[in-house]
Amino acid sequence: MEVIDYKTAGDLRLDHEAELQLQLYSIGLKETGRSVNRARIMQILDGESSEREVQVSPAALDAARDKARGCVQGILEREFEPSGSGNHCGRCDVARICRYKARTGWTRLTSAGD
Ligand code: SF4
Repeated sequence: MEVIDYKTAGDLRLDHEAELQLQLYSIGLKETGRSVNRARIMQILDGESSEREVQVSPAALDAARDKARGCVQGILEREFEPSGSGNHCGRCDVARICRYKARTGWTRLTSAGD
């Protein structure tokens, strides 16, 4: 089976985030008994498309599983350090009160009328 994720301009995930997402999809599919032997990200932007292969080897999926477990463990331990990218601040429900968004360099939401 091949897993393909179509990304558009509105999707602000970083490359490594998108790759991890597909690897986690692949792990889930494998756990339901399906055989995943290929994964790709198809980027569609302004009528143009490009694609990128995502590794789904056993080693790559083991690394993705470990990364996901580390993220879950961090959540359980209440580690919520801002990433610093600011890529998600525009869609964040708590941006108006977040004291960390200034650190990201994201400044669009500055007044109550926005
Ligand atoms: S507004 Fe704050 S909590 Fe929301 S994404 Fe940005 S840094 Fe994270």
